[in-house]
This record gives sequence, C-alpha cells and structure tokens, in this order.
Amino acid sequence: MLIGILGGGQLGRMLALAGYPLGMKFRFLDPSPDAPARQVGELMVGDFTDQAALDQFAAGLDFVTYEFENVPVESVEYLAATLRVAPPVAALRTGQDRSAEKAMFTRLGIAVPDYTIVREHADLPKAAEHVGLPCVMKTLRLGYDGKGQAVVKHTAGDTSPRHVAARLDAAWITFDRAGVIVEKLVPFSREVSIIVCRGADGAIVYYPLAQNVHRAGILRLSTSPAPDPGGTLTAQAQAAAKKVLEHLNYVGVMAIEFFLQTGSDDVKTLLANEIAPRVHNSGHWSIEGSICGQFENHLRAVTGLPLGSSELAGPSGGQCAMVNLIGGAPSTDELLAVPGVSVHLYGKDPRPGRKIGHVTVRAPNVVQLQERLNTLTALVETHAQG
Ligand code: AMP
Repeated sequence: MLIGILGGGQLGRMLALAGYPLGMKFRFLDPSPDAPARQVGELMVGDFTDQAALDQFAAGLDFVTYEFENVPVESVEYLAATLRVAPPVAALRTGQDRSAEKAMFTRLGIAVPDYTIVREHADLPKAAEHVGLPCVMKTLRLGYDGKGQAVVKHTAGDTSPRHVAARLDAAWITFDRAGVIVEKLVPFSREVSIIVCRGADGAIVYYPLAQNVHRAGILRLSTSPAPDPGGTLTAQAQAAAKKVLEHLNYVGVMAIEFFLQTGSDDVKTLLANEIAPRVHNSGHWSIEGSICGQFENHLRAVTGLPLGSSELAGPSGGQCAMVNLIGGAPSTDELLAVPGVSVHLYGKDPRPGRKIGHVTVRAPNVVQLQERLNTLTALVETHAQG
C-alpha cells in the first residue's frame, strides 16, 4: 500500500514511522530537499502548485493525505479528482480560513471568543468598538505557531474607541491586507485540546484531553489527561468535536484547541480557538501513551482500516506529558537518564524558534509525572532557543 503525503515535515515523518509496521509505504511531496521525512520515505522535491510535480507524485499512489495545513486547497482538489484523499478538502479549506472556521463553530453552536472580521481598513474602528481591549489581531489565512498575530493591549488612558482604533491601526500595517480577525483576548485559566479520529465508517475515537502551555505562540508542553474533575470539560470537548467531524464528513485525525474561561460563578466554559485538520503536536504523547497513537490511527482512518483504542497504554491513573525541543536540545544521553522518557528527534538543524524534536515522559501517577517533568523541563530549557 503506497501512501502519498503532502508535506514532508516531522508530522509526515512520524506518520511513516507509525505506518511501516502495518506494511505501508510512503511518498512525500515537499518544496524543501531537507524535509525531515527524507530519511523515512521517498521524497519528491517540488512545489505544491506545480501540476507536473503533482502528477509525478500521484503516479501509483493508493491513498493521499496531508500533514501541512497550508497546502493549497486547489492542489488537494486536483489530486482528489483521481485518488482517495482524506481528510476531506472541505476541512482543509475551513482550517485555512479563520473566518470560515469561526462561522462553522458558531453555526454548530460551539462557543468562541468574541470576534470581528475586518476586510477593509475603514472598518477597524467598528471592530475596536465591538471587541475592545485587550484583543488579538490575526491574519485570516496562513498563520501558524503564533506567526501573523499581534496582541493589542491597553496603555494608560487609551480606552476610548478612537484610541483603540489607533492601536489596531498600528498592528494592521504589519499584516497582509487580505483581511484580519480581531478577537477578544480571552483571560483563560488553561488551554486544552482534544485529538479525535473519525474512521471511514463514521466511528469516532476520542483521545483524553491534553492541557497545553504555549510561549511566544509556540506549544511548549502538553499534559494528558488534563485535570477534569467530573469530566465536564471532556464532555464539552467531545460534543464539539463530534459536531465538527460529522459536519465535515471528516476522515482522519483532527485536533481542536480550546480556551478554558472560568466565569465568576465558577461555570467553566470551553471556547473553541481553532481546528487542525491533521495530526497535531498536542497529540504526540499518544505515540507511547495510548494503545494506538494518533499517527497510526490517522493512517488507519485514511486507508479504511478499523480504528485502534485511544485509551492510555499504562496502568490506570497513569499520566503523560510531551515537551517540545525548540531551537536546541540536550544530549540524548541526558534526556534518557530521566525515568519514563522517550526521545523523538526530527533530523532538523537547530534554529531559534524551530521545533527540532520532542520528548514524552510517562509516569504511573500525577505526583511522579510532576517530579520527572520538573527534571526534564529544567534540562530542556537550558538548551531551548526562541
Ligand atoms: P493560534 O494560532 O490561534 O492557535 O494562537 C496561538 C496561541 O496564542 C494560542 O494557543 C494562545 O496561547 C494565544 N491566543 C490566540 N488567540 C487568543 C485569544 N483570543 N485569547 C487569548 N490567547 C490567545
């Protein structure tokens, strides 16, 4: 079975590593000859918009999927005309456009932060009035890892709509002019995500919630299962995910990120931030942590195989965490000296702000996880850059 993957980044690399035991083979299309997947499959170097490259990539494939969410929709549509492609193009299109994404959440009755879409510069004052400060302005398209975002905050005495508009104006000039979304900056207590997988037959597997910590817009740490007394957050996240998956007639793994807003009356509401129509960084812990990890389940879904269990692989009460290696990494020797650790290096040269690998740590309970995590994060932080 030959599977074509659009994008040859670390997600593609980890998909291949999960697929080999199932007898699958992989071909990647990526513009970069240094793509991390080059070591684990056939890498075709070419532009996603080059029809000749797409034809060459497509020859002999059984299935196509993608690991890069900004791959052009038209290229995926082109391949889908002759090949089985999952996840569906509609999910890619929605995930690439923050306006369509918010509209979908709203239509499905899923709560989101207050927002306004601004397509013309002249509409900024209205947005300022609606959202107020502090807020965050994001490009509608092609943002990732906090790129294409600007937080606009108060300074003393600038709460009038005119001052707010002036501050948005300053952020506007740094963006491409195709339009922005202005969102209320949510005073969240926690960020969580749910990784879900829907099979070709419509069966859905839900992974335990992950709790995520970002810095400078980049994910640093995911812990799973996230604390969730009474399971109320899990119930909200699963209900939202089910609606989105069924609405998109989705096949494959999807991540949905949420902010946890704690109200004054202690009502805890999840606000949906965004979907990722692909395997996701906040699900990397599942490679070792779950009976069937997100990468294998994505491939099972794409190729029509029965899905595997997302339950934790270890003893009941077990905990997992994933720490990203950003811009630099301690030696593998040092990392493996921490009990319960698994190391994943992506074969990328270190550069500030670049994800070059991740480390998963497992423990039989929360207390031991925290101890191991303290040692691990101290070690990782001394080498992190950006
Ligand atoms: P995004 O690219 O939308 O996932 O944003 C990256 C990170 O920026 C999020 O994970 C949050 O930590 C932060 N962020 C984005 N939007 C908001 C918001 N409306 N309120 C608070 N924090 C936000």
